[in-house]
Amino acid sequence: MNNFFEQTVLELTRKGDLKKVKFLRGLHRHIMPSQVARINQNDRGVLREIVLPKWVSWDLLRAWADNFKEEGKGKICILCNSQSDLGVDFRDKFICENCFIRLKQLT
Ligand SMILES: [Zn+2]
Repeated sequence: MNNFFEQTVLELTRKGDLKKVKFLRGLHRHIMPSQVARINQNDRGVLREIVLPKWVSWDLLRAWADNFKEEGKGKICILCNSQSDLGVDFRDKFICENCFIRLKQLT
């Protein structure tokens, strides 16, 4: 569950680099599903079609694409807007496992 992508997001959050966090959380808006499939297949040619900041490494992109695959079904988290099967329902709202763990660490 805690893959390289989530680790990177957590690390950036800790550093207070929220611009990057926001970009990574919204990555699905920059990349089409067909391109996600190619990332999953380790097809670097896709990099010519997507405009990404230099700090987004191929490894990071692949970790993200792995996540994306797993999150194909499930509910939308109210905190990070990503889809997830794992999480908790809180007053009719869904919080994914990652955000739930993060919240628990804050309190
Ligand atoms: Zn979440």
